Formats: sequence, C-alpha cells, structure tokens
Amino acid sequence: MSSTTEQSTTATATEVAEAPMLIGGQWVPAVAGEWIDVVSAGERSATLARVPRGREADADRAVKAARAAFPGWRAVHFKERQQALLKIADALADAAEELAVLTAKDTGNAIRTQARPESQTLVDLFRYFGGVAGEFKGVNLPAGDGQLQYTRREPLGVVAGILPWNSPLMIAGFKTPAALAAGNTVVLKAAEDAPLTILKMAEICQQFLPDGVLNVVTGYGTEVGEALVQHPDVDKVSFTGSTRVGKHVASTAGERISHISLELGGKSPSIVFPSAARDADQVDALASNLLLSTRFARQGQSCTAGSRLFVHTDVYDDVLAAVAAKAKAMKVGNPLDESTDMGAIINQKQFDQINNYIADGKSQKGVELALDCALDIPDGLDGFYQGPTIFSMGDNSWRIAREEIFGPVLVAIPFSDRDEAIRMANDSHYGLAAFVWSNDLTEALDTAHRIESGWVQVNQGGGQVIGQAYGGYKTSGIGREVSLEGAMDGFTQVKQINVKIG
Ligand code: NAD
Repeated sequence: MSSTTEQSTTATATEVAEAPMLIGGQWVPAVAGEWIDVVSAGERSATLARVPRGREADADRAVKAARAAFPGWRAVHFKERQQALLKIADALADAAEELAVLTAKDTGNAIRTQARPESQTLVDLFRYFGGVAGEFKGVNLPAGDGQLQYTRREPLGVVAGILPWNSPLMIAGFKTPAALAAGNTVVLKAAEDAPLTILKMAEICQQFLPDGVLNVVTGYGTEVGEALVQHPDVDKVSFTGSTRVGKHVASTAGERISHISLELGGKSPSIVFPSAARDADQVDALASNLLLSTRFARQGQSCTAGSRLFVHTDVYDDVLAAVAAKAKAMKVGNPLDESTDMGAIINQKQFDQINNYIADGKSQKGVELALDCALDIPDGLDGFYQGPTIFSMGDNSWRIAREEIFGPVLVAIPFSDRDEAIRMANDSHYGLAAFVWSNDLTEALDTAHRIESGWVQVNQGGGQVIGQAYGGYKTSGIGREVSLEGAMDGFTQVKQINVKIG
C-alpha cells in the first residue's frame, strides 16, 4: 500500500546522512539495520538522508517505551504538561525557518506559499494546546448534599499517530500537542515519502519531554504502520491518509476495540452564487479566494481542496475566465525558490495518477478546457512538476468529479438553482470541506447548513484556523481534530465517579 517503491539498503557504507528514529529518548536505527533513502521532492537526484526501515520489532519497542512513560506523564499536574508544550512552541518558533526549508525539500511544497505557513501552524498548535491543557476536565452532577458525582477526562494511554506526506508538520501538529496535553504518550509514524520534518520536530520536542513520551518511527505503512495498528498495547490509532488505507486501518484497529479517529480524503465542493460576482472587482477578488480554495499552491495535494467548482450559469463565464487567468499566472518552480507559487508533486506514482485523471477528463464527451497548463513548466527542474488544469462544462458523474485526484486539477460544473447545486455538492461519498460564495446571507447560510461536510467556509478559501473543529462526514473520516472539543473527545475517555458522603 506504500506510495514509494519499497526498496531498502543495509546499514553499510554510504555518504548519505543517517536520520535515526526516536524511541524512549534514544536515537536508534531499525532493529534489522535496514534503511530507506529519502529523496528531495523538488530535486529528485538529491538524496536528503536515509531513515530506518522500521518493522514490527521497532513498533513494539516504541509502544513499550510509550507505555513505560505513560504513568508518569498522566500523573503530573496539567501545568507541567502545559509548560513543556509552551517551551516546545517557543523552540519550534526559533526553528521555524529551518523546519520550513526542510518541509520544502521533504514534501516539495513551496517555501513561501506553503512551507512557511505550515511550520507556523505547527508552532501555533503547540501553543494552543499548551494553553488549554487545563481544560481537559470533567463535570459535576448536582446530586444532593449526600453525594459527590463527577466525571474525569482520563487519557487513553498510548496513541499511535499515522501521518501522510502532504503536510506532515501541520498534521503532526493536529495530533501531537493535543494528545500530550490530555496526558497520553505518543508514537508517531512518519510517511515514508516525507519523514524528515517529523524527526526534526521530535528532536526539538525531546528537549522538553521525559523519555518515551514522544516517539517517532519511520518505514513503510505495510510494515511498521501495520504493526502499530495491530499492536495490542496501542490504545488509540489517530490516522490521517487515504480513505482506502483508512478503511483497512479502521477494521484492523476496530477488531481489537482500539479507539480510532480517521482524517481521510475529500472531493470538496465550492459553490459560487451570482451575488458573489456582481461586478468586475467582485469577480477579481472572488477569483483570488477561489484560487486559495483549490489548493493549487500545494499542487492540489490537499485533502480540503475545493476541487469541484459549481458556478451559477449567470456568472459562469466571467468567474471561470478570472480563475483560469489567475491560475495560469502561478509560477511552477523549485520549492526553495521564493518566487515559486507551486512546488513539486511528491513522486512518480502521484504524478502518473494525476495525469491519468487528466487524460480521463479530456476523453469525456462535451468537456471543455478552461486551462491546460499541466505540461507548461520551466525547463531544468529535476522532479515531477505540473501546472494547473481546469476542466469546464463538467458533469458531476465523471470520475474527475467523483474521485480524489490529489493534484492541481479543478472541474467546473454549471448550475442554475440552489437546490440543484446543493444536490450535486452532496452527491459524493466524501464530506470533508466545502466552500460557499454568496453575498446573500440567507442563501449562504442555508447552503452552508445543508451541505454534508465537516467544514464549510463562506466567502473565504484559506486553511484551518487554530481551535476550529476539523474532520469529515461520510468516508472523509471519523472524529475531529484541531479544536479543544475534538481533542477532549479524541484523546480522553470519561470516567464517572459516584461518592456517598457521610
Ligand atoms: P496513505 O493512506 O497512502 O498513507 C498515509 C500513512 O499511512 C502513511 O504514513 C503510510 O505509510 C501509512 N500506511 C499505509 N498503509 C498502512 C497500513 N496498512 N497500516 C498502517 N499505516 C499504513 O496516504 P498518503 O498518500 O500518505 O496521503 C494522501 C492522502 O491523505 C489523501 O487521500 C489525502 O486526502 C489524505 N489526507 C487527509 C487529510 C485530512 O485531514 N483529512 C490530511 C492530509 C491528507
């Protein structure tokens, strides 16, 4: 199930730097001594480092280390956990630029448009969950003077956090500080395609945490990932990745009644009403915001990308022309270049998948191309680079409108009334995010409320905000992250205590 060709090398001579795993406070190779080369997404000929190819024995070591650290970590006053998280936030802030550069190399996400915001979000998430560490608390029942009836929000124990490659730091930030603030210990499994930022983050965290509270394993999903999901001493699996792997993870972890949360794929609708595009200035501002919602600046490799664009027929031509013009102006280039808007696609498999979808889209009857820049890229780039593609006059039943492409591809579909737009928006097995564009309050909120998605944005297309509820409906997932409420539900269990007094 891995997205990388599974090759490993033995721990013999190489000039490539070794980036070992963090287990129980120690930086260690895999038990079997195997390694995986990590190449730079934006410069495929550059091997950045090699990381251990962890397997079952490594997962077991990490879970044992996390289990050993759990009693001490859960027992302390919340202020101690809070102080640790806030110190980590400060240290991550000091290292933010280094983390951003590493993100650009590791993931191919452009430094200015993506990598820096991601490392800043990580800092903000540690600060937020440090700040609310005292809020993981229970309630009292007014059961009369002779009774004390209260609940405790107790940590679950050992949390395995399984991460994807598209925004590793941000997604590690959705899980790690929340789980730690609640008193859990953590084993992170970094994605095989982009593990280095997670190891760097762990190096910083480790300065402020007792040994074993945070552990990181590296390797393939089918090996070390699977071993974590099956491990009887993992109390919760917090998985972010594809719906296909998520289903397998849920059934495997569910078999042993583990707690599970899933942040999976999406095919998010974006609905433009005429009231959002009344004149040329509005259309121009709308197009800029729509561009943000497409996540083209992350090569479309975003689970919340607004990848189905429903535009009212009254404004269809104007809106599409404006979005296409802005997308065409985006600069595809080396992720480390400050002028780059769109960086590199993560690997060959992903690149081929995107281009298969584009070929499929082009073969549809009646399709039009509002923008065809897939191969419109500068010379001399050493990686899988791709410009944006916008299909027009699409149909919601086409594969490119139903399946997650995870690339810079948008399909625009005209509609003529609100009910029709909402029906098409909801005609999807996904339900992660949605975007509504309208300057009519009733129209905007009626649409937002009727859409079957875990997160709806009105008249804006940016990313997650610290503290908001974040998670999917339908096959986009189970559970909520980023918010305090989501963390309470996701990383604690409730114990009721009834005491007779006197
Ligand atoms: P993926 O499902 O291939 O892999 C995700 C992680 O799971 C990786 O670390 C991988 O090694 C691991 N894994 C694979 N097989 C496993 C197994 N059998 N047991 C345990 N772990 C296993 O996903 P990806 O290609 O890394 O990421 C892209 C996908 O992630 C897209 O579908 C995207 O929509 C989704 N995603 C969702 C969110 C969200 O918040 N909802 C955020 C980012 C990405």
